[in-house]
Amino acid sequence: MLITGGTVVCGDGEIIPHGEVVIEGSRIVRVGDARSGRRRHDRVIDASGRFVLPGLIDTHVHFGGGDYDPLWESVPLGLQALRSLEAAQRSLLAGCTTVRSAGAQNHLDVDVRDAIRTGVAWGPRVLASGRGITHTGGHAHEFAIEADGPGEIRKAVRSLVGRGVDSIKLFGVSAGVATAGADIGAEGFGAEEIAAAVNEASRLHRLVQVHSIGLQATRNAISAGVLAVDHGHFLDEEICSTMVERNVCLVPTFGPTYYYTEVRVAEPWRIARSDQVRPAHIESFKLALATGVRIVMGSDLGYASRMKNGENALELAQMVKHGMEPEDAVYSATHRAAELLGLASHVGSLRPGKLADLLVVDGDPLLDIGVLSTKICLVMREGVVYREDDSGNTFFQ
Ligand SMILES: [Zn+2]
Repeated sequence: MLITGGTVVCGDGEIIPHGEVVIEGSRIVRVGDARSGRRRHDRVIDASGRFVLPGLIDTHVHFGGGDYDPLWESVPLGLQALRSLEAAQRSLLAGCTTVRSAGAQNHLDVDVRDAIRTGVAWGPRVLASGRGITHTGGHAHEFAIEADGPGEIRKAVRSLVGRGVDSIKLFGVSAGVATAGADIGAEGFGAEEIAAAVNEASRLHRLVQVHSIGLQATRNAISAGVLAVDHGHFLDEEICSTMVERNVCLVPTFGPTYYYTEVRVAEPWRIARSDQVRPAHIESFKLALATGVRIVMGSDLGYASRMKNGENALELAQMVKHGMEPEDAVYSATHRAAELLGLASHVGSLRPGKLADLLVVDGDPLLDIGVLSTKICLVMREGVVYREDDSGNTFFQ
């Protein structure tokens, strides 16, 4: 297959104004200047006037149980699983060819991943976290594994790995906006507990993802050796410098605070807690940006953050609204996200040998990031087209 004539945004810094991408099977075999007509292809897609870029990678989503609706919490497990799958599929149609589920009740994300991986269902590439880990009574204790002290935490990591997770979600590093009644700035796990999880996950070749809101919690996580801080709503200059020195990424997750404070469709207590946090959240992001912290995209949609799966690109719009260059925002969701997830040799940029995960967009995302919410006209994952709007069709294989 040949996609030709468009501006190719490779995802790792290079932009080819009149370029082409050649795909054989599931892989990219050529990326370069357009030399149309030189070879024969089963299919030629004319992308003239359009932009071709790598499939987006959202490193922090929730689809367990389907998009959040309090009425769905008590539905039977089978229906929860089907809702989870449908939610994951919406993210693919919206251009996210890879998502990391940051925790799901009943390990539903692991099973959705396996259904997609084995061809039982179609959907994005999923990295799953299963139930995740918190401390007794900690953030997300309603569904996460409760573990206290390094020994119990190691055991919880092993049990999650036994259930098949790709990533260990540590919910209990701090309280949360969604932890009703808890002080938002409160710490959770101590540094030695986080270090036990990081060490055990590393021994078992799994990723670690930390939910960290308050400053001391973020300090604990960084001293324990994490590669990224998710949320990080109360950063200061010192911690930002440490993040730069140690190459620790920030995943700012604007989704929930944006939704609660601006759209304001949520329980009053969530909105009230978010109103307290939002100004600090925005300032932390600006400080991280100014200090040169590596920013990676994670929308934290689904579950109780109310942005629905499929609205992932609103996160990029939020980052741009608060000072990021659109081009930088694109990289936060492509090559940089792939690096954080350990997938950069397969996805995140358009290069020969990589999997053919890509988008064609009828607009310039480097000028207007909003086109990634409204003007995606083709979504391909591993050489298979899942969405194509020019023909008026959305078709699935
Ligand atoms: Zn989350």
